[in-house]
Amino acid sequence: MSLLVVGSVAYDGITTPHGKCDRVLGGAGTYVSLAASFFTSVSLVGVVGEDFAPEDEAVLKEHDIDLTGLERAEGKTFYWAGEYSQNMNERETIVTELNVFETFDPKVPDSYRDTPYLFLANIHPALQRRVYQQTTGPRFVGGDTMNFWIEGTLDELKETIRDWDFILINDGEARQLSGEYNLRRAAKVIQDLGPQTVVIKRGEYGAILFRPEGHFIAPGFLLESVFDPTGAGDCFAGGFMGYLTAEGVTDLGQATHPQLRQAMIYGSVMGSFCCEQFGVGRLRTLKRDDIDERFEEFRRFTEF
Ligand code: AMP
Repeated sequence: MSLLVVGSVAYDGITTPHGKCDRVLGGAGTYVSLAASFFTSVSLVGVVGEDFAPEDEAVLKEHDIDLTGLERAEGKTFYWAGEYSQNMNERETIVTELNVFETFDPKVPDSYRDTPYLFLANIHPALQRRVYQQTTGPRFVGGDTMNFWIEGTLDELKETIRDWDFILINDGEARQLSGEYNLRRAAKVIQDLGPQTVVIKRGEYGAILFRPEGHFIAPGFLLESVFDPTGAGDCFAGGFMGYLTAEGVTDLGQATHPQLRQAMIYGSVMGSFCCEQFGVGRLRTLKRDDIDERFEEFRRFTEF
């Protein structure tokens, strides 16, 4: 089974109470693909600029991510900079430079057009939709978005998510998109926009899965120290979607409760690893055994 991912491939500037780094490999497409690659084979559609370094491409290749759909264009790679509050629960975006994404016209390689598994990671909703439209046949499709697009491209975003089976979104953005503060009500409003499965991510507090028939709450894994939460939401998405792809789930409505719950826990596990080092650092050394060990630890901490 193979998962097709579209999303930003970026250079990030990150400031946390633990330190600062600039122009490190990041981007929602990068984090989702790396996290999902521990569960299934992945191909990535996106664009980078002339400044994209071979050693950063090598990080993706080391994880066997198929880069046929990763274009290299004239100009600079997408750049994003953010700064975290002292307790790291809030983040302020300092810079978003779309650069090569501004004129990007995504092309899904022919060999991936009939993929049943599609994850539309955070990027302009019109690009997400164009990728969706190039795929054919029955699709299990979902994605992510963020305040930048909710504020700037709301109508396009609503048109895009109408086709999605599921959406992953953080709590602040779920409130913003729905106009409801209460998360149960917010999820209901978002379900009415299209995706019947809504996963609301709550940072260190975990995530909630909402389905028409009920909801499931997954806690966050309690880390001793959080170094850099950048990409944790995307790694959650990669674990969630990667696991469901590997399970061969092609219709979320038919997924069993244990499958959905385990997907949520794998999402939480991947999000927690991501926070342990700056940028994609921890994903570079991570092994599948580490993931399964933490999954079992999760079970011990939450079972009653
Ligand atoms: P997360 O911490 O899960 O929200 O994801 C952080 C990643 O999202 C960073 O690596 C950024 O490069 C990327 N990012 C930030 N803003 C945007 C945006 N407007 N569109 C797409 N990707 C973005």
